[in-house]
Amino acid sequence: MEFRDLNAQYYYLHDEIDSAIKDVLLSGRFIGGQPIVQLERALAEYVGVNHCITCGNGTDALQLALMAWGIKSGDAVFVPDFTFFSSAEVVSAVGATPVFVDVDERTFNIDPNSLEKNIEYIVENTNLKPEVVIAVDLFGQPAEYSKLKKICSKYNLLLLEDGAQGFGGQIKGEMACSFGDISTTSFFPAKPLGCYGDGGAIFTNNDEWAELIRSLAVHGKGSMKYDNVRIGMNSRLDTVQAAILLVKLNAFQNHEINDVNKIALEYEKLLNRSEFVLPTVKDGYISSWAQYTIQVPIGVNRGVLQDRLKACGIPTMVYYPKPMHEQIAFTNRSITAEECKTTKKLCNSVLSLPISPYLTEAECGKVSRCLTEVLKPSLYTCDQV
Ligand SMILES: *Cc1c(COP(=O)(O)O)cnc(C)c1O
Repeated sequence: MEFRDLNAQYYYLHDEIDSAIKDVLLSGRFIGGQPIVQLERALAEYVGVNHCITCGNGTDALQLALMAWGIKSGDAVFVPDFTFFSSAEVVSAVGATPVFVDVDERTFNIDPNSLEKNIEYIVENTNLKPEVVIAVDLFGQPAEYSKLKKICSKYNLLLLEDGAQGFGGQIKGEMACSFGDISTTSFFPAKPLGCYGDGGAIFTNNDEWAELIRSLAVHGKGSMKYDNVRIGMNSRLDTVQAAILLVKLNAFQNHEINDVNKIALEYEKLLNRSEFVLPTVKDGYISSWAQYTIQVPIGVNRGVLQDRLKACGIPTMVYYPKPMHEQIAFTNRSITAEECKTTKKLCNSVLSLPISPYLTEAECGKVSRCLTEVLKPSLYTCDQV
């Protein structure tokens, strides 16, 4: 069993994907071109925003947003303590200071109460200027945007949605990657919508920012390519990846997002009465299930549990073992105003199980059975599960 079965997807889509790649090869155009234009249009329409700009990866997408807003040294940017490194790395990369905020125990997303306390702390105790909140749609579930938007308007902050894992999620019919003043996603192969290499995209309704980001992503270009009006970066999606994504976006919309939600429901049904804490999706929210992350009961050795599952052919992952504020890279260049207790607890207890739209009910059943069995050492054998 694969942790995320990309081959199963290719098996279903290979005719279309192969021919899409071949078309690009025959066109002789590998940067820009029609597939990029079509993909940006399709993504913007799917998400329901005016502008989509594709770029090199999800990390660049975040950095380009901060660059477009002119975020710099002396600015404070609020980031969840429980996330992938990129969400905060980009803050330091533009010279600003990440302020790490604790998360909600059930949704894994930034805790609005903790966010507000952190903003007050920065205002009262530092010379930093609060500028941006980066909310992450962790494991596929959108953050609590109704509350976050209120806090952002109260303190006059910009909201950046890191939808690298959230693409395809919803809140009351509104799509993930539409909630930020700028929103971003990643097409890293294992993300909900992945390509066959690196890729990313930026979404916004703001015409001015969209134009600025298009310039920043191509060496700060002006009206033509060799006219450079600002310092930017080189961050473009390859044409081959765009062609692949056009095929995959179709499958994603048509059935993958439903299929992966069925698998999550199946896990819920099978593990419901186990001792594990299951992921909860808030009322009116839809997750894209980038990960299916459970919490192991207190006292259970997670490493041993993983070894036993591995012996049964079941791969698992720990996303994430370390709070951001404990990462060596952020020593002396970040602020943690209050102890992030929930993050600490989650880092010690989370366990992500195999999930993808192509996971079968049988595989899902095997994972669930093994999980329950390996918790009881005396009952544990590979044959039984
Ligand atoms: C994957 C990921 C990113 C970065 O995306 P890349 O395309 O790998 O650069 C950023 N934020 C989160 C939450 C992610 O999971």
